[in-house]
Amino acid sequence: MNQLADFRHTMQSCNHCGQCKWVLGPKTRGYDFAEICPIHMQFHFDAYSGQGLLHIAQELLDGELQYDPGLRDLVYSCTACGACDTNCKSIRDMEVLDTILALRAKLVEDGQGPMPQYARMAEAMARTHNIYGRPHAERAAWAGEPAGLSATTSQPAPVAYFAGCATSYQRPDIARNTVRILEAAGIAHTVLGADEHCCGGPLWRTGQIDAAARQVQENLDALQRRGVQTIVTSCAECFGTLRGFYPRVADFPFEVKHISEIVQEALDAGRLRFSKPLQTTLTWHDPCLLGRLSEPYVPWQGEIKAFGRHVPAKAWRRGQQGVYDAPRRVLGAIAGIEVVEMVRNEENALCCGGGGGVREAFPEQAQVTAAERIREATATGADTLVSSCPFCQDTFEDGLARQPGAMRYRDFTQLVVDAL
Ligand code: SF4
Ligand code: SF4
Repeated sequence: MNQLADFRHTMQSCNHCGQCKWVLGPKTRGYDFAEICPIHMQFHFDAYSGQGLLHIAQELLDGELQYDPGLRDLVYSCTACGACDTNCKSIRDMEVLDTILALRAKLVEDGQGPMPQYARMAEAMARTHNIYGRPHAERAAWAGEPAGLSATTSQPAPVAYFAGCATSYQRPDIARNTVRILEAAGIAHTVLGADEHCCGGPLWRTGQIDAAARQVQENLDALQRRGVQTIVTSCAECFGTLRGFYPRVADFPFEVKHISEIVQEALDAGRLRFSKPLQTTLTWHDPCLLGRLSEPYVPWQGEIKAFGRHVPAKAWRRGQQGVYDAPRRVLGAIAGIEVVEMVRNEENALCCGGGGGVREAFPEQAQVTAAERIREATATGADTLVSSCPFCQDTFEDGLARQPGAMRYRDFTQLVVDAL
C-alpha cells in the first residue's frame, strides 16, 4: 500500500484550478446540477474539497498543521466518492482520491482517527466478520429461505456469488434475487456461506488498512479453496473493493462481474429473456464504487519525471470504464420500462451522500446530499430511482421517507426478477 508521502507529486501539482468541485464544462447542462463534490456543495469552503484535502495532507506531512478533533471531522466528512479525482484527471494526471485515502490511513496510524463509529465497526468486525457486529452464524441465513435456491451450497464452482455484509444481514431479498437470476441464466455457482467475511471496503475507505487487509486474506483463502475464477456481486461497495482494493494488498487472479453484466450477457446469448412487462419510468443512480471507482487497480512502481511523466507508463483510473451500459441496457430491455437520465450520470454521478462512512458519522450531512440527488432524480420525471448498492439504498430510503410521494427506490435485482 502507498503511504501519504508517496503522493507528494499530487499534492505539489495541485494548481488550485477548482475543477475537482465541478463537472467538466462541456459535460454540464447549466449551473444547476453542475457541482460535483458533496462536501464543497454543502460547506462552501475550499478545505471541504479535493483541492483542500490535498493541501491539508501536505501541511500535515510538512509539520505545518497540528491535529485537532475539528481536523479529524473534516477529513472524515468526505464521502470518498472520487468525483474530485475523476474531474481532476479530466485535465491532468494526479491521484486525488488515493491521497485522501492515504490521509485517512495516516490519521489512523497517528492515533487520530478514525471516527469513533468506524473504530467500533472495526472492533465488531474482528469478532463477527461483519460491519454490524451481528452473529457470524446468521451471515448465510438468506440462502436457507425460502425453498428453491438449490445452487447456494458451498460447493466448488468456477463462479461464486459474493453477497457482502449489507446484503446478507439487511437486504436478504437482494441476495435471493441474485441467486434466482443466476439460476434462471443457467450459471452454476457457489456461495461462500460461513466462509464469507466482510469485503473490507468500509475499513479501507476509513483508513483502517491493516484490518481491511485481514478481511481480504480470509476471503481469498475461501475463494481459492473452491476453485473460483469469477466473483459475482450485487453490491457496488463489494464490487469496487474487490477490483480497487484487493490488488493493492494481495495477488488477485479473479475476474469480478456485476450482476447487471451477467444479465446482459445472458440476454445477448438468449439464455435469459424477460416475459413480464413493468410499467415504470426509472432513472439509474450510478453508485460511486460501481461506476467511476470500479476500474481495476493496476499496481505501479516507477519514477515521476519532469512535467509529471510517469516512467514506466501508469494505468490511470479515470472513471470512464465503470459499469454504466449493462444496467441501463438490461432495464431498458424490459417491456414497459422507460429509462431517463439524470444530468450528473456515469463518471459524473453525484454520490448518494452516505459513502465513506458519512451516513454513520454525519447522518444529517448525508441527508443534505441525498436530498440534492433526489431533487435531481425527480427532475427527470421518473417515478422510480433504481440502483445496485444497499448503502445507497439506506441513504436514499432515509431521504425518501422525508419526502413522501416523491418517488420510490428499487434495487436492480428486484426489477429483473419481477420481469422474468
Ligand atoms: S482539479 Fe486537481 S489541480 Fe485543480 S484544484 Fe482540484 S485537485 Fe487541484
Ligand atoms: S471524494 Fe467526493 S466528497 Fe471527498 S473531496 Fe472528493 S468529491 Fe468531495
